[in-house]
Amino acid sequence: MNVGVLALQGDVPEHVAALRALVGGTSPRAVRRPADLEGLGALFLPGGESTTIARLLEAGGLWDPLGARIRAGLPVLATCAGFILLASRLEAVPGGRNPPTWGLLDVSVRRNDYGGQRESFEEAVRLDGVAGEPFPGVFIRAPRILAVGPGATAFAWRGTEVVGVRSGAIWGLTFHPELSGDPRIHRAFLDAAARPS
Ligand code: GLN
Repeated sequence: MNVGVLALQGDVPEHVAALRALVGGTSPRAVRRPADLEGLGALFLPGGESTTIARLLEAGGLWDPLGARIRAGLPVLATCAGFILLASRLEAVPGGRNPPTWGLLDVSVRRNDYGGQRESFEEAVRLDGVAGEPFPGVFIRAPRILAVGPGATAFAWRGTEVVGVRSGAIWGLTFHPELSGDPRIHRAFLDAAARPS
């Protein structure tokens, strides 16, 4: 299966490293332009700055074709900023502006809701469908999920708070599994993506 990482801005090298470790040294495809979507079997949307990533997607002519591919069932694992771009509703952020979104994950989200860089933290995350110890959740200027609509299913929690949802082949997380050195989420996502639905 051709696995890609959206490589416009953000923690792209960390996703690439996590994937290389998993798939035995093969590098995933860097997705930067519409032609890179051809034959793609799964895509990772990294964290970073969602307003910047959205602007670069639009400038490169990738916003519409990528949105269409995801809508048509392309398996996507989106973390943090990438997750924000999929949300159906973004709450206003005081003194800030929000990026456009594809609106493909039925969640209401507020960006930077835990605070700035200095309030970034690591905390155990409980995962449905992933065996073993609680997952080490790395939260960096993370968005907060304020509500989950009927179109999405929660599968990751920090205490009682939802920090990860799924909808069809789309997985969205407010934390960064690529930074924790724990491959279980990447592996579970790729296993699901490889199974015909
Ligand atoms: N705060 C960033 C945003 O709103 C997301 C942070 C991240 O991806 N680690 O886009």
